Amino acid sequence: MKAEILSIGSELTSGKNLDTNSQWLSQQLASLGIATGWHTTIADDLEMNLQAFSQALGRAGLVIVSGGLGPTLDDLTREVLASVSGCPLEFHTLSWEKIQEMFARRNRPCPERNRTQAFFPLGAVPIPNASGTAPGIWMHISGRYLAALPGVPREMKAMFTTWVRPKLLELGLAQGVILERKLNTFGLGESAIEEMLLDLTQRGREPEVGITASDAVISLRIMARGETETAANERIAPVEKVIRERLGKLVYGTGDDGMEEVVLRLLGEKKQTLAVAESVTGGNLAALLTRVPGASDHFLGSIVSYTNGVKQESLGISPLLLQEKGACSEEVTLAMAHSARKVMKADFGLATTGVAGPGDLSPGLPAGKVFSALAWADGEKVESIHWFGSRVEVQTRTARLALNMLRLKLLEAN
Ligand code: AMP
Ligand code: MG
Repeated sequence: MKAEILSIGSELTSGKNLDTNSQWLSQQLASLGIATGWHTTIADDLEMNLQAFSQALGRAGLVIVSGGLGPTLDDLTREVLASVSGCPLEFHTLSWEKIQEMFARRNRPCPERNRTQAFFPLGAVPIPNASGTAPGIWMHISGRYLAALPGVPREMKAMFTTWVRPKLLELGLAQGVILERKLNTFGLGESAIEEMLLDLTQRGREPEVGITASDAVISLRIMARGETETAANERIAPVEKVIRERLGKLVYGTGDDGMEEVVLRLLGEKKQTLAVAESVTGGNLAALLTRVPGASDHFLGSIVSYTNGVKQESLGISPLLLQEKGACSEEVTLAMAHSARKVMKADFGLATTGVAGPGDLSPGLPAGKVFSALAWADGEKVESIHWFGSRVEVQTRTARLALNMLRLKLLEAN
């Protein structure tokens, strides 16, 4: 059985608001082993709703609707349900009393208009709403199950959790669980990673392996279905092992792990400290690192030395070197990394320079060309990359590039 999620609202189709309900609902359904086949977003328009509801009921075993249950004229879900099911709307006294009570509790007069929310297609079951006026609607239409919930995310989530989820379990619609394991990699592009895993990423393979890219981080998502969480995990484990064997140190973390968390953890294990000198990243490295609780145990500080003047004064970079090589160069970046390390008396010094863009600095220094250097007691390393992305993307990717250099160095010593 596949599920379809219908999100209703012109504020969603116009692009004004992002449909976050579908994302949340799909995740909830996956935890019940129910795969979502379709997300459909529909404007507040009767014809379009009729069409979308009929289509959903024609192809999905379970339809979850959010939105369109309000008391105003643009709220069409009730009417549409009555029409597609052929069950006329009937007044539900108990629901009307509950709506009136809700207004009374808030010390507000109950508008007559809200009476519409007490109408349900014949045979439908009202889904109680503890925190808003609109009750939801549960229906069984020609063998398909359908739950209509309000669009307000807080109400929708509470009603799904307390009513719809138990209902799906009671009906035996849950099919175990669908689990996902996400492995995050840094250092190669999407297609290069896929080439190393072609046998695993083929469509229709179980467990399914998908690839997503976000800001130079390429993630592999292993998805498996199982009777229980343990069973699903057992299916995922061998695939994860193969991926890790093939990709080695390219894999830096799992799930929501950030590169900065991994680096701080490794610094902690090695009892080492880090000092940073930032040009192109403009404080991004420090911001990433300081977001992690306890960062101060191993991250000493960052000097945002944006101009040549500050590079000279705060880091003691020689004016001659700056003049000869230019600020965006391997030599200056290395000098910055060594200097940060010395100034702050750290084990490691990390530095970034480069051209954030959008304009090029010179033919040899186009927008996106960056340098990252790492210095330690008896060594140094420098890397250069040319990113194609916006100014902000260049900055965040470069911060990750620098952190990744340190990560690889910390792993080497093992
Ligand atoms: P409605 O129940 O259609 O009156 O929706 C009420 C409010 O809930 C809207 O103004 C949106 O702010 C929010 N909302 C509705 N649908 C969604 C959705 N799919 N995702 C996130 N927010 C939503
Ligand atoms: Mg609406």
